[in-house]
Parts: sequence; C-alpha cells; structure tokens
Amino acid sequence: MNFELTANQLDAQKIARDFTERTLAKDILERDAAAEFSRAHFDEMGRMGLIGLPYPVEMGGQGGDYLSYVLSLEEISKLDASMGITYSVCTSLFCGVIMNSDLPTERKAELIRPVASGKALGSFALTEPSAGSDAAGCKTVAVRDGDEWVINGSKCFITNGPLSDYFVVFTLTDPALGTKGMACFMVPKGVPGFEQGKRHDTMGIRSALVCELYFNNCRIPTENLVAEPGKGFALAMKSLDGGRIGVAAQGLGIAEGAFEIARNYLMEREQFGKPLYKQQHLAFRMAELAVEIEQAKYMLYKAALDKQEGRPYTESAAKAKLVCTDAAMHVTTEAVQMLGGNGFMKEYHVERMMRDAKITQIYEGSNEIQKLILSGRLFR
Ligand SMILES: Cc1cc2nc3c(=O)[nH]c(=O)nc-3n(C[C@H](O)[C@H](O)[C@H](O)COP(=O)(O)OP(=O)(O)OC[C@H]3O[C@@H](n4cnc5c(N)ncnc54)[C@H](O)[C@@H]3O)c2cc1C
Repeated sequence: MNFELTANQLDAQKIARDFTERTLAKDILERDAAAEFSRAHFDEMGRMGLIGLPYPVEMGGQGGDYLSYVLSLEEISKLDASMGITYSVCTSLFCGVIMNSDLPTERKAELIRPVASGKALGSFALTEPSAGSDAAGCKTVAVRDGDEWVINGSKCFITNGPLSDYFVVFTLTDPALGTKGMACFMVPKGVPGFEQGKRHDTMGIRSALVCELYFNNCRIPTENLVAEPGKGFALAMKSLDGGRIGVAAQGLGIAEGAFEIARNYLMEREQFGKPLYKQQHLAFRMAELAVEIEQAKYMLYKAALDKQEGRPYTESAAKAKLVCTDAAMHVTTEAVQMLGGNGFMKEYHVERMMRDAKITQIYEGSNEIQKLILSGRLFR
C-alpha cells in the first residue's frame, strides 16, 4: 500500500490551495451574508482546469486522475464549502451522469464539454417534493410524442439550479412502472416550458444557489435522452455513488478548515495565565479530533482510488460519505465551542463552517440512507 501522493496530485492540491487563499478568501464572509454566488471565481476555476480535471482532454477536461480532483475539492472546501458543492455537482454529478450513461463517446463529449471545460454550469435533478430519500415518490413524467418527449412536473432543492446552463433531469415515463420506467434527459436552460424557479433560502452553503425547477409541457428532442426508460434509476444511483465521494471531500475539507482555526486559536488565546492549549482537556479533545480527521481522510482516499482504479465503490463511497460528513459536523461544533464567544461571531468563520457542515449529512443520500446501503450489503 502506497500512502504517497504523486507529483500531479500534489500539484492539483497546491493549485486549489493557492486559488482558495488568493481568491475565495477575499470575499467569503460577504458572499455568505448576501447569499451570493461569484461567477467570476467559478470562471477562474474553469480557466484553471479544475472543473473537468478528471475527464479526458478531448472532452474538455484535463485528463487528471480522480484523486487529484478529490484533493482539489477538499482544499476548496477547507474555506468555501459553497464553492465546493458547486464544483462537485458540476464534476461528480452532472458530468458523472453523462459519463456513466450508455451514450456513444462522441455524444458524451458533446454533452459534457461545456461544463468540463468550465465555461458552463450543470445540475443534477432527481429530488421532488414527494421524492427525497425514496426516489420512487417521483411524479415528474415524460411522455413520448413523435420525435420529442414532453415533460411535466417539478423538482426541488436543485444545487446550481439558478445558474446552470444544462440539467440532467430524471423522470418517470409511466407512473404505473414507477422507477422501473425512469429515464434521464438533458434539458438546456431556456427551452420553452422549462423554468428555473424559486430560490431556496438556506441555513448553510449560502453562496451556492439552490432552487426549484418547473416543467410545463416542456418538449425535449429524443436525441437528448441520456438514459432510456428503465435505465434512469440505475444511472442516478451509480452517479450518486460518485457524488458521495465529492460530498465526502467537501465534509473532510470543512472539518480540516475548522480544526486549523481552532488549533491556532488555542495557541494564541490566553486564559488563567496561559494559552488555552495548555489545558489538557482542550489539547486531548484536539488530539481526538485529529484522529477522527485522519480516519476520514483515509476512507475518502480509499473510495477515490477504488473509483479511479475501476474497483466497485458503492460501499467505500457510502462509508467515506458517512465518516467525513459526521466528522465535519463534530469538528465544527467542537471548534465553535473552543473559540467560546468568538466562535459565535461571523468573522471567525467556524459558525459558517458549522452551518455548512449540516447539509453534508443530508444531501446525496442522507447519512441514514448510507447506513441503509451499508447494512443492506452486510445482511444480503
Ligand atoms: C441544500 C440542498 C441541496 C440539494 N441539492 C440537490 C441536487 O442538486 N439535486 C437533487 O436531486 N437533490 C438535491 N437535494 C436533495 C437531497 O438529496 C434530499 O434533501 C435528501 O436526499 C433527503 O431527502 P428529503 O429532504 O426528502 O428527506 P426525507 O427523505 O423526507 O427524509 C427525512 C429524514 O428521514 C430520514 N429517513 C428517510 N428514509 C429513511 C429510512 N428508510 N430509514 C431511516 N431514516 C430515513 C432521512 O435520513 C432524513 O433524516 C438537495 C437538498 C438540499 C437541502
């Protein structure tokens, strides 16, 4: 077993770290307070080649490996988990769906190039008001009409929704068949009958934008079918396995970011005539958090390598998602406590990180659903 990162992986990590410190750090507090996305920052990430990092050059990507992508996402999320999820949804979910589909290579290239090259944003639309953990509650239906499909229904909680140029949308094709008839379509922004709807006002990841989507007799040509009826559900689940590695990287980054702020604070802040870290109780708690972070990191990198090297990764991705996101919630909560009153203040960042951490335990399959996946595999 080799625990060394390659030169390319270290490069990807450093590029993302420098970009985070140089650019994202400048206006992070303002963007969080105003719930504002920075298109300029995203475009810079695109020009740097981050968005399509793990995809082939001929498809608009950089031909990097999957762990390099995970490392860069972890770095960005150490400070800016909102940009982290924007990045992950474009790369792991939107591009992931296209790459996991049965489409011919040229068509895959055509569909992912705008997003993989960082020139456009993409969204993944599965959730509906009646279909969260249980996709079988899906009510959005596409019905074939000659050379077109007509979509009616709505989606909710769609990350990047107000910003995206392209959407992979999962629909039923026959309500009687449920998810057995599920299909997936590529829906471009601006097509008649499709509306990027009401924005959600969120607790955390406030500078990533999330909204509802409405489909009202929205006509999509058959060539935009990404998964045929009956193949959509499996495609969504496979792509979510990859998405969970992205959310795990986001969670680990949040945990590491908050840990570093707490460590510095404990070394600087003096009470009772000495720095706080000299209180063994606090130092021991930090030692425990350091162990938790290290465990989460190895599980995440293992899942990323499983995917990269072509091994099954449903299980390792579920484990990494569970462990990294629970670490994010635990470490950020502890960090707020260790900073005392200052921890509650915006300018110390850890309160934002604690709000951001919460969603990582909920989306792309809540942590209860990860346990459902893992326990189901234990006892089959
Ligand atoms: C900010 C944000 C961004 C999102 N982005 C996207 C996106 O881009 N695309 C997209 O398609 N979706 C997105 N989602 C949706 C997200 O994936 C769902 O919210 C999530 O899967 C949970 O579904 P739900 O909210 O309907 O909760 P429910 O399914 O109603 O669950 C409620 C609670 O019950 C628990 N629960 C449910 N079933 C079980 C069970 N069988 N056993 C034990 N516990 C259970 C859940 O874990 C949860 O704690 C986003 C959500 C949010 C909040």
